[in-house]
Amino acid sequence: MDILHASIKELRTALDARDITAVMIAEAFLSRIKEVDTDIHAFLELYDDVLEQARHADTLIAAGNIHPLTGIPVALKDNLLIVGKHASSASKILEGYVAPYDAHVITRLKDEGAVFLGRTNMDEFAMGGSTENSAYGPTKNPHDMSRVPGGSSGGSAAAVAARMAPLALGSDTGGSIRQPASFCGIVGLKPTYGAVSRRGVMAMGSSLDQIGPFGRTVADTKALFACINGYDAEDSTSVSEETRRMMCGDVRTTGAMRIGVPESFVYGEGVDEDVKENFRATLRTLETAGHSIVPIELPTFPYALAVYYIIMPAEVSTNLARFDGVRYGLYVSGNDLLEDYMKTRGTGFGKEVRRRIMLGTYVLSAGYYDAYYNKANEVREALRAELVQAFSEVNVIATPTSPTPAFRIGEKASDPLQMYLADIFTVPVNIAGVPAISVPSGTVMRDGQALPLGMQFIAPHFAEETLFSIASEVERLA
Ligand code: GLN
Repeated sequence: MDILHASIKELRTALDARDITAVMIAEAFLSRIKEVDTDIHAFLELYDDVLEQARHADTLIAAGNIHPLTGIPVALKDNLLIVGKHASSASKILEGYVAPYDAHVITRLKDEGAVFLGRTNMDEFAMGGSTENSAYGPTKNPHDMSRVPGGSSGGSAAAVAARMAPLALGSDTGGSIRQPASFCGIVGLKPTYGAVSRRGVMAMGSSLDQIGPFGRTVADTKALFACINGYDAEDSTSVSEETRRMMCGDVRTTGAMRIGVPESFVYGEGVDEDVKENFRATLRTLETAGHSIVPIELPTFPYALAVYYIIMPAEVSTNLARFDGVRYGLYVSGNDLLEDYMKTRGTGFGKEVRRRIMLGTYVLSAGYYDAYYNKANEVREALRAELVQAFSEVNVIATPTSPTPAFRIGEKASDPLQMYLADIFTVPVNIAGVPAISVPSGTVMRDGQALPLGMQFIAPHFAEETLFSIASEVERLA
């Protein structure tokens, strides 16, 4: 069997029939990583106990203790804690840091006997959209090595796209799973806020962050989501099963869907013409297959990016205050305590992280708090209400995932505003807390290379099943 190209379902069937072993699977992916990752640089570290983990999975299988992901390898974004292993959020400030406990998602995967391959590269503390903000060098897009894989979960997306891992976990605060999924031609899901526990993911914007899965297909992605999705009493923002049922109401998972398209937003300025054309063509295909396309108005959507760049830095500046040189990682000594802080944080944090800490400190400072932070929260409420209203008329909302295909390494690195604009379609989803998926919708030619494009579907709270259903349609019709 061709392990590197197999679906999760095929791997499961072969493992259960004893046609292959978890060790064989792990070996296949490890040798693929050795072959291609010197160039791509998706991994920051391969764990030294991968084969040991795989042997353990084989013992579970032999004993009949089998779960959907027993023996299946998973790559982990470097901001997830796994006890006894390094986790750095691709920052110098956490170089050498060893996690003291397992993230909730890790516990769930361990319970199933999944095999962790290693930790993947990312923008430092998940701030960025290209993986160029890593303190350990950029990751390259497997479709064109001169381009970025997207970010911040660029290493995870590149690993899956280049068949170095069948599955990977990322985190998404403003698009960090969906945008790299679209740049790399794979599937990525940002779950409903509160669906997956945030315990053990290094916090960026606590009211926005969600951990989510990457896979090459919708079915693979769904398999990983099924494992990590669920209530966790140790995360106060985790939503109980009962509340989920109350919140999600009548979820459409089969048959013809009403697909809302915020036309003035999608076909507006700054969106690449090829992206618009690909989006239109995909909608036409869906319409031919029996779904209805419904033009909708979401007047608050264009403000989401401004809201995000107030709320997110405010939360970033608060969350990153803990890196004081005393409790975690790097310590650079000065003449007094204040100088200790300044030297440690000035040396340990990269430019983008420092920029956001300053922005956040500014918007939270006396006098500006009302003008910026409170105002942003009001707009956030309006946006959420607008979406709830829209979902009374449509089952899902569609947009392109990103306004452009993968850009060149270095192209936007010195222009943060350009980089921020790349998030216009993904950020509103985190502001509202709803789930969204990115699914490949075709390719566009750039300099003789076919670059992937992605389509984003947004669903009501806890209606992930709707997303899997419509994304499978796009996959089937492609
Ligand atoms: N690109 C966005 C940012 O830079 C999103 C990051 C994320 O989702 N972690 O903030």
